[in-house]
Amino acid sequence: VLNRLATIVRSQHVLTEPDERAGYEIDWTRRYRGDALAVVRPGSTAEVAQVLSVCNEGSIAVVPQGGNTGLVGGSVPRPDRAAVVLSLARLDECSIDAQHGEAVVGGGVILESFQEASRASGWDLAVDLAARGSCTIGGMVATNAGGEHVVRYGPMAQQLIGVEAVLADGTVVGHVPALRKDNTGYHWAGILAGSEGTLGVVTRAHLRLVAVLPARVVALLGLPDLEAALAVTGKLRRTLPELNAVEVCFADGIDLVRSVTGMPAPLSQRAPVNVVVETAGDDVDLLVDRLGGAVAAAGGMLDSAIASTEADRARLWRYREAHTEAISTLGVPHKLDVSIPFDRMLEFERRVRALVSDAGAQLVLFGHLGDGNLHVNVLGPSADDARIDDAVLDLAASLGGSISAEHGIGIAKRSAFARTRSTAELDAMRAIKRALDPRAILNPGVLFS
Ligand SMILES: Cc1cc2nc3c(=O)[nH]c(=O)nc-3n(C[C@H](O)[C@H](O)[C@H](O)COP(=O)(O)OP(=O)(O)OC[C@H]3O[C@@H](n4cnc5c(N)ncnc54)[C@H](O)[C@@H]3O)c2cc1C
Repeated sequence: VLNRLATIVRSQHVLTEPDERAGYEIDWTRRYRGDALAVVRPGSTAEVAQVLSVCNEGSIAVVPQGGNTGLVGGSVPRPDRAAVVLSLARLDECSIDAQHGEAVVGGGVILESFQEASRASGWDLAVDLAARGSCTIGGMVATNAGGEHVVRYGPMAQQLIGVEAVLADGTVVGHVPALRKDNTGYHWAGILAGSEGTLGVVTRAHLRLVAVLPARVVALLGLPDLEAALAVTGKLRRTLPELNAVEVCFADGIDLVRSVTGMPAPLSQRAPVNVVVETAGDDVDLLVDRLGGAVAAAGGMLDSAIASTEADRARLWRYREAHTEAISTLGVPHKLDVSIPFDRMLEFERRVRALVSDAGAQLVLFGHLGDGNLHVNVLGPSADDARIDDAVLDLAASLGGSISAEHGIGIAKRSAFARTRSTAELDAMRAIKRALDPRAILNPGVLFS
């Protein structure tokens, strides 16, 4: 099989040596790893189709991989089943339609490279996230990535005009370029968004872009507690249509980021809760006035800082964005990404703190407050001890929340999947999986065991 794959992609793109494979076999969190039979790096949709056809014939498991920044263990082989890692990194072509604000982008294009190219032509992808230097457009489609601007533009699924994907047997589906409006039957883009590499391999995406907003202003608000932060968020959402992001982090997280980065304190006093707010529009002075006025009117703040220059904005964002990396310096975290109804958020915070403290573990919370999305990071329990994960996810589900707001199910949350999806829904999902991938070669073990 490896010889046949080498004929398709050329032998230099079939990596079999342990040191060549190593980086593809362990995930970003270092919690998940498994052996790859080989890493195969196709360079076109046609090559992806041939590779899948060969693997399907031999019932060989295939793990699609983009930037390997996923946080639920879905992008690396499982220990119980050797697999071919299908790296899509070479699908790196992109063409931007600067007149109509659309782009056809290869599944392996790195978000940051795409941002540079699209911004130069006056357009931007609405989804942005801290992993931008490594995550790929294909991975973002496959995980239906959310990120920092969901509060304004929605997640990746809402940016898709069309998706081209290769099914397990090598069949190519989805028109790309697609039409803005095309209501003919099942919507492939919708089916593939969030499918986590279990239904097809995303080879190209046709993306809707938004105009680059030349002016941006960022504020960091220090608040006494989460209740005050939620109250301010509601007021800002109501008064600022230009609101681009509302993110939250807590004093212990800021302390950790400061100790790892050496950054100074962001505010004159240490605030228990910190909210990063961004607005974007045409006129920076107007944005500063409006955000400053809205913050003053909202009240309840211990202190605040506002930034309009690029360097100052980046510095305020870094207090929030550096959380993921800073947490990883403490060990291998249990990363749980939940969304909670706004009216249960305070109860969730109180109970999750008690739960993690009772387990003798360390908690670092942060997240996308404007979307009701908290990232629960727990340090202490060993990587294979899932008790704390179960307890946190049970708590989220019992409060009417979701066990995965934006990271997906992967391997990490598979056993909790049934907590917030009905049996009928799970059966329907399994039926789709069986129909499109009858030999279960595509990312087996992700979503379903
Ligand atoms: C610092 C940091 C910050 C992050 N912030 C956010 C955030 O704010 N919001 C958010 O949603 N996520 C966030 N993430 C998680 C991650 O970046 C996203 O899930 C991202 O979309 C994954 O893209 P990737 O190319 O790295 O995919 P990978 O990690 O390579 O793969 C992720 C999943 O998609 C599948 N896959 C990958 N490429 C393809 C393809 N071409 N076709 C089919 N399946 C494929 C894989 O099999 C796997 O199941 C963050 C991660 C890090 C490390």
